[in-house]
Amino acid sequence: MIGSSRYRTHTCTGAADARGERVRVAGWVHRRRDHGGVVFIDLRDRSGILQLVFGPDAGDAHDQAQRLSPEDVLSVEGELVARDAATVNPRIPTGEVELRVRSMDILAPAEPLPFSVEDEQTEAGEELRLAHRYLDLRRPRRLHAMELRGRVVRATRRVLEDAGFLEVETPMLTRSTPEGARDFLVPSRLQRGSFYALPQSPQLFKQLLMVGGIERYYQVVRCFRDEDLRADRQPEFTQVDIEASFIEPEQIHALIEDVFTAVWAEIGVDLPTPFPRMAYHEAVSRFGSDRPDLRFGCEIQDWTEAAAASGLGVFATVVERGGVVRGIVVPGAGGGLSRKDLDALVTEAQEVGAKGLVWAVPGAEGALRSSVKAEFLAGLPEAFGAAEGDLIAVVADAPATALSVLGTLRVRWADRFGLIPQGVWAPVWIVDFPLVEWNADERRWDSLHHPFTAPRPEDEAKLAEQPGEALALAYDVVMNGLELGGGSIRINRMELQRRVFALIGIDAEEAQARFGFLLRALELGAPPHGGVALGLDRMVMQLAGERSIRDVIAFPKTATGADPLTGAPAGVDDTQLRDLGIRLSRPQGS
Ligand code: ASP
Repeated sequence: MIGSSRYRTHTCTGAADARGERVRVAGWVHRRRDHGGVVFIDLRDRSGILQLVFGPDAGDAHDQAQRLSPEDVLSVEGELVARDAATVNPRIPTGEVELRVRSMDILAPAEPLPFSVEDEQTEAGEELRLAHRYLDLRRPRRLHAMELRGRVVRATRRVLEDAGFLEVETPMLTRSTPEGARDFLVPSRLQRGSFYALPQSPQLFKQLLMVGGIERYYQVVRCFRDEDLRADRQPEFTQVDIEASFIEPEQIHALIEDVFTAVWAEIGVDLPTPFPRMAYHEAVSRFGSDRPDLRFGCEIQDWTEAAAASGLGVFATVVERGGVVRGIVVPGAGGGLSRKDLDALVTEAQEVGAKGLVWAVPGAEGALRSSVKAEFLAGLPEAFGAAEGDLIAVVADAPATALSVLGTLRVRWADRFGLIPQGVWAPVWIVDFPLVEWNADERRWDSLHHPFTAPRPEDEAKLAEQPGEALALAYDVVMNGLELGGGSIRINRMELQRRVFALIGIDAEEAQARFGFLLRALELGAPPHGGVALGLDRMVMQLAGERSIRDVIAFPKTATGADPLTGAPAGVDDTQLRDLGIRLSRPQGS
């Protein structure tokens, strides 16, 4: 226990239990009010707010209090008393008490702030807030996110430790780990011209820990991927990384469900288990995505056969060329939309990759407003189960394009038209992923997860003839449309690993050069093993109800990978470059 210090005997909210006692508290001036002779200060520390009262009997402290500025740091001492009934503030936990100040130490003054830390929504732009992130962190909403993050990590560790998992650290200065992104490189001074890569994940090390007999490993670990940033991406992010030996997918699912149950309990939610399982192909065909949001319907429906016979030329042509005609119904969304609004949806569909979009809105008594003549859409509302005022959107295209467009529009429109119920949690395991997918640009197979993922034993034979048909022992855990984690059973035999490398275009020589150490380990007694990694930042973002992972990371980077607080990334001295044997082809900063 941390006891009293010279600065405080109680926290601001802890003091509320000390009625009638002399207490000392410390914190920041949150607000000040002068009421003719009496000064009121709301003092804030991490625990919350306590009202201080400086009456004329407070002597010097009373005079000083009149000159305090917001965010000055104080330590004050006085008597904790009940407020008059008329001044009780039921909105804060300390609203029934106040501190009658006797003496005060000003520990540090604060200059006028670049933006207010008081409001929930500050007007200040993100650049300014990140440059003063320590001020931004004083806002209740940020503090809440940091506290929640701490609790999530604690709950996760508790479940894993109880299940016999051992936390082991793995190197940050290492070789490239292929998770499909670009590496961050660190030049070596001792071996000029050589580079470490920061790990995209501890994937290979956790597998080597299994070969090393650790059996149950976890790590709350930073990973680095040099990618273009989006709201749910950062160049460095945190994973809860897990690996176990002699294990099957179902056991990993059960373990992660235990983690999720414990974590969601932190926000008072009781998640029912087991989570549903859905095959990859089913997810893609019903929801147009391998991370389906199951909180609402609007599932993708097929109209291909009827469309081919509808008389509309474009439908017939697409179907002739092997395409499909599919659509979604957004309940109640069409009634209030003007022709202009509806036509704007076509542009929106084109922006996300469709060639076009046919829309239709059933009216009263069989009437149909639509972007093409209603006769071409005869039977469509009935086939799709659409009612008066619903929005029907139909895309005719190659199967993959139609599904991905409709998958994107489904989520966007459900959000826009208020169809996503709040306070609902819909987890799902996506399973039965294909092992590889065809990369048409490079004309080769790519791993869908990573190259260490094992095929289902019964599909190993397909690797030679029909690799696209082989399913992997891989799984993702998805919550409300967000992928929160993924993993797989790994390949633990050298010969199979070589075959998979060859399939994705890594020949024996390259395999040896890049992954020789893994292949060697697989020859020396590698137990069957598998694991998973959870995206901690995304998880906390979702639990905290934030829209960006930046909001749940203490010191995040901007969309261009910069840190306005420290100025990173920054130029370095010529001598440092010389030590590393590096000469820039363009001057720094250009
Ligand atoms: N290493 C993988 C990733 O970072 C997760 C896993 O397969 O365990 O996505």
